[in-house]
Amino acid sequence: MKTETTIQGLTASLSPARSARKIIGFVPTMGNLHEGHLNLVREARKLCDVVVVSIFVNPIQFGPNEDFDNYPRTLEQDSHLLADVGCDIIFAPTVEQMYGNKPRLTNISVSEITNDLCGLQRPGHFDGVAVVVTKLFNIVQPNFAFFGQKDYQQLAVIRQFVRDLNIPLEVIGVPITRAEDGLALSSRNGYLSEENRKIAPTIFQTLKAAEQELHQGVALAEVLENIKQKLTQAGFIVDYVEARTPELQKIEAFDQDVVLFIAAKLGNTRLIDNLQIAYTA
Ligand code: AMP
Repeated sequence: MKTETTIQGLTASLSPARSARKIIGFVPTMGNLHEGHLNLVREARKLCDVVVVSIFVNPIQFGPNEDFDNYPRTLEQDSHLLADVGCDIIFAPTVEQMYGNKPRLTNISVSEITNDLCGLQRPGHFDGVAVVVTKLFNIVQPNFAFFGQKDYQQLAVIRQFVRDLNIPLEVIGVPITRAEDGLALSSRNGYLSEENRKIAPTIFQTLKAAEQELHQGVALAEVLENIKQKLTQAGFIVDYVEARTPELQKIEAFDQDVVLFIAAKLGNTRLIDNLQIAYTA
């Protein structure tokens, strides 16, 4: 496994694979890797000849009061984990390597689906994601790119601009990896106090309870209200509890497949999760 920190180095490392028309798989991450990330790499390994994982904490997707400075940077530990799951190349550029020192005048902004859910709480976040992912796609030029359903809205945004801009690759969505107690794995789980880590699985428990209620015929609005109440009682500050179609359109009743979305804070840690529930008439 190689680690490249420059675009030139990465391009040189990928050149033999490109000449041999090998299938290149790409997994973008911000590092501090856990089993969720590693499962994306395992999926890439199944479909591709060469697997590239980027580790880059992207400043332009963080708001002014978010955790960019404190975001955990653990490259050495990440490298060991990636070697074990068969990553071929780590791309770990500096901010300067990615953004240079001249002003960036181009933005990539997906409308409608970003004006909702996390887009309301984190203005500019998805533009920052779209810009960095597009830059990384142009640098790596993969055949397949792998993203987690944990960040459901992010995956939808990426699928949208890939389609809208004819970016020549296929986006693969990978199911959420959870801890045994149901908590969706996240680099931010490491911020939780011991006490809050015990409370955090309530998020998934409320989603599973909501699934049961929906199947029992409880009205969607009531189900969402029940989630909010349970989370608040458990000590969360709820950002949102919402239901959307799988394409992120508003939905009033459980008369088609639905995705339930939660964003809630425990202490200073903002956690997100979602659950897709199939409708059977
Ligand atoms: P991040 O490093 O948080 O930017 O995440 C990098 C990629 O890993 C994104 O595509 C995430 O959706 C994905 N990811 C993070 N946590 C999980 C998880 N628990 N299950 C599946 N994918 C995940």
